[in-house]
Amino acid sequence: MHKIAIIGCGAAGAGAAWQLHKSLGDGADITVFERAEHVGGRAWDLTFGGCHMEVGGVLFHSTGQITKELMEFTGCQEAVPSLSIDGKNETYAFWTDQGFSVLTRVSLASMAFGILKHVGAPSALKVTRRAIKMAKLYEGVYAQLRDHAPAPTPDDLFGALGLLEPTKISATEYFRRLKVNDRMAHDVVEAITHNMYNQGLEMNALACLVGLAGAGLAGGHLFVIDGGNWTLFDKLIKKADLGLRANTKVDRIAITSTPDAVRPAAYRLDTAGGSAGEFDAVILAAPPALADLSVALDGRSLPLLAHPYQPVHTTLVIGELNPAYFGRPSGKPLPSTIFTASSAPAPFKSIGTTGWSPEFDSRIYKIFSADHIMTESELDAIFATIHDVRVHAWRGAYPVLTPGLKHLPFELHPGLYFAGALETIAGSIEVEAVSGTNAANLCTEYLTRPAP
Ligand SMILES: Cc1cc2nc3c(=O)[nH]c(=O)nc-3n(C[C@H](O)[C@H](O)[C@H](O)COP(=O)(O)OP(=O)(O)OC[C@H]3O[C@@H](n4cnc5c(N)ncnc54)[C@H](O)[C@@H]3O)c2cc1C
Repeated sequence: MHKIAIIGCGAAGAGAAWQLHKSLGDGADITVFERAEHVGGRAWDLTFGGCHMEVGGVLFHSTGQITKELMEFTGCQEAVPSLSIDGKNETYAFWTDQGFSVLTRVSLASMAFGILKHVGAPSALKVTRRAIKMAKLYEGVYAQLRDHAPAPTPDDLFGALGLLEPTKISATEYFRRLKVNDRMAHDVVEAITHNMYNQGLEMNALACLVGLAGAGLAGGHLFVIDGGNWTLFDKLIKKADLGLRANTKVDRIAITSTPDAVRPAAYRLDTAGGSAGEFDAVILAAPPALADLSVALDGRSLPLLAHPYQPVHTTLVIGELNPAYFGRPSGKPLPSTIFTASSAPAPFKSIGTTGWSPEFDSRIYKIFSADHIMTESELDAIFATIHDVRVHAWRGAYPVLTPGLKHLPFELHPGLYFAGALETIAGSIEVEAVSGTNAANLCTEYLTRPAP
């Protein structure tokens, strides 16, 4: 029986646990250590205004195969994201220094038409085709995981998929080479990436294009997990009968015996309460920049490249928007979701309808802001009426997606793996589950290698 520890129970940890459960079955004794009192990591919700609100990772895309497998295994069901209240009568808008540059009905078809009208067909089509192409190439990852040896590094994995080059250049450079006009690049694409990653076109081009596909530009549909996204991971732990140690922060991973020709390594995990046990293999499934732990190998500490993460503040407001703030006449309905371009005079990255409060008979809006918590005076200017406000601060929401980064490998040391390695290229719940799957495959290969 192989004793395996997974540190962190977000999407990467759950993806690794699921893959180990499938490949090793009863041959694995898996313990998941989670610092928080709940699983889910950045897929987390809270109850506000009598409604269930996702405050972190919200939307799944229908092409995500690991999510689909997990849903089948756990019995979780899709639910429709509440992005509008009155369906067809509502609009999305892209906000620039010129006001609302694109105003479209809530459907994807209508959004595509609105974008086409604003930016012209050549640029809109070029970007859409590239997003579709990248998404198609990315979908090859499932065959890659199934049919090939696990990749040692993110660059190896994306290289095998034919997706390495766009990770090395910025979206700005990519669109310049493609001769995409400024309206498409800045008024539309950047407004979407602000909402998705809190970053503009300085990010790597692959993250930008896969992000656009994930937002629905390349087809498919978007959904949430009925009852809360985190329940997908919670049910996995329970149904697969994995050991969970919640409220347990791992402070240190230490190697206690080095691997040799006969024996694998052994690792001890230390917590504030002392040793949490010895394991044949360990999978780190938390970003080093946020995990606040050290790794000691043979008396020296292993430096983990801690790529910077950036904060995001999720502000929920029950109330009604003030048309004057957006330069609109009073009485004219406002868009249900507003994406902001860099040029927009806005202290937030996006604002959108996310539910309806029966208690106040009023909309609930979600605002993403980057470097600061929305102030009372900002909210007073944006809203005509405010019934209640709740803020959730993410100390590290997304890695800074700099092109050409040196990424941490999946294998940190024989027997020690990193499940979140793909996130510094392009992160999402599904991508992190893919990343955890690859790390788990390396771990399985290591544990089941026949003795020489
Ligand atoms: C506001 C926001 C909106 C988003 N929207 C979307 C979206 O719509 N769709 C989408 O696909 N993605 C979205 N994302 C991104 C997505 O949520 C993340 O990419 C994904 O959830 C990250 O999973 P992870 O497992 O790598 O990390 P995490 O979810 O951060 O999990 C790491 C876990 O490790 C635990 N941990 C950390 N250190 C230790 C330690 N020392 N010991 C024990 N446990 C530890 C943490 O408590 C945490 O539970 C969003 C993210 C944010 C913040």
